[in-house]
Amino acid sequence: MFTAFLIKYAEIGIKGKNRYLFEDALIHQIKFALKKCEGKFLISKTQGRIYVEAQEEFDYEETIARLQHVFGISGICPMIYVEDEGFEKLCETVVKYVDDVYPDKNKSFKVNCRRAKKSYPMESMEINAGLGEVLLNAYPELHVDVHEPELLLNVEIREKIYIYSEIIPGPGGMPVGTGGKAMLLLSGGIDSPVAGYMIAKRGVKIDAVYFHAPPYTSERAKQKVVDLARLVSRYTGPIYLHIINFTDIQLYIHEKCPHEELTIIMRRYMMRIAEHIAKETGCLGLITGESIGQVASQTMSSLVATNEVCELPVYRPLIGFDKEEIVAVAKKIDTFETSILPFEDCCTIFVAKHPVTKPNVNIIRRHEHNLDEKIEELVKTALETDELIIVE
Ligand code: ATP
Ligand code: MG
Repeated sequence: MFTAFLIKYAEIGIKGKNRYLFEDALIHQIKFALKKCEGKFLISKTQGRIYVEAQEEFDYEETIARLQHVFGISGICPMIYVEDEGFEKLCETVVKYVDDVYPDKNKSFKVNCRRAKKSYPMESMEINAGLGEVLLNAYPELHVDVHEPELLLNVEIREKIYIYSEIIPGPGGMPVGTGGKAMLLLSGGIDSPVAGYMIAKRGVKIDAVYFHAPPYTSERAKQKVVDLARLVSRYTGPIYLHIINFTDIQLYIHEKCPHEELTIIMRRYMMRIAEHIAKETGCLGLITGESIGQVASQTMSSLVATNEVCELPVYRPLIGFDKEEIVAVAKKIDTFETSILPFEDCCTIFVAKHPVTKPNVNIIRRHEHNLDEKIEELVKTALETDELIIVE
C-alpha cells in the first residue's frame, strides 16, 4: 500500500551552511542504493526533507532493506500520498489508512499535521481536531493521548498530501563520501570488516588492501576477503580492493629476523605498503581492526611499533571493543558467517610460539636492518604486481 518514503536524517541536519552538500550526498547514495532495486523512484528534496516516491510497482521489502544500508539515514517512514481533493476526501483516506496499517485499534493516538502549503483552507490545529474526531467516530477503540501516543499520525500538506506513522530505523551515520577516503587493511578475520564499516559510517569512502601469501594462503582465503569486501560494500558503495602478493616479503623476514618478532615486523611492512598505496590513491588515513590486548601484536607496546612506520593517521575504531562487542556488529552487518569460514590467514602460518608482547622499537628497527639487502626490491615488486579488484 505504501508508495513513498520520507527519509529522516539526524546529524546532517545540523551542518549549517554546508547542509546542502550533505543532503546532496545523501540523495546521491540513495539513488545509488536504489539503482538495483526493482521499480523507478523519484528522489526529491524540499525544505530540509528528502522524499523517495515510487513511480511504478516496486518491491517494498527490498527497497526498505536497501535504504537501511545507506549511512546518513536515521529513519525511513513509509508513506502514502494522495492528491488534495478537499478535506472530506482526506478524512476518508485517513480512516482507511488507519484501518490498513493498524488491524488492532486499541491504542492511543494523536494527529500531527504540517501545513507546508499555506493556501490550504484550514489551519493545522483545525485539521488535527477534525481528523481526530473523524477517527474517534470511525474507531471507538482509539483514544487520544497528545503527550505519548502509541500511534502518531503525521499528515503533511504540500502540493500533494502525505500520510505516515511508522518509522523504520536507518543505519545512522553520515553519507559516504562526505568525509574523504581511507585505506582499510582487510584480512579474512572478524575484525577488519567491522572496522571498515564503522569508519564508513562516519561518511568515509573505503578502499582496501589485502596481503595475500600464496601458496601459504589459498585462493579460497583470497576469495573470502573479496566476499567480505562485497558484504561491506553494501554499506560503502564500490570498494577498490588491492591484492598484494606478500609471500616473498614474508619469507625474507622469516629468514632474516628473530621469530618472536616476525609478526611485528610483518605488520610494519603491511602498514608501509598500505600507506604507500593509500597516498597514491588519495586516501587520508589507514584503518585496521586492532583492539588493545587482543593478541600479542596488539598490545600497547606492539601498537607503538606498528604505528611508528606510518605518517598517515591510523584509525582503529575497535580499539576499545571486546571481542563479543565486535562479533555483535559483525553479525548485524552480516559479515560474521563469512569471517569464521576456516581458511588460514596470512598471519597464522608464520606465527611464532612465543611472539614478543613488549617489542622494543629500537631493537625491532635494528633487526629490520637484516633485511637491507633485498627488502626495497621486494616491496617494489609487491607494489608493481598489485592486483586491483573493484568490488560492488
Ligand atoms: P582480523 O579479524 O581483522 O583479521 P585479527 O584479530 O586477526 O584481525 P591481526 O591478524 O593481528 O588481528 O591483524 C590486525 C589487523 O591487521 C587486522 O584487523 C587487519 O586490519 C590487518 N591485517 C592483518 N592481516 C592482514 C592481511 N593479510 N591483509 C590485510 N590486512 C591485514
Ligand atoms: Mg586476522
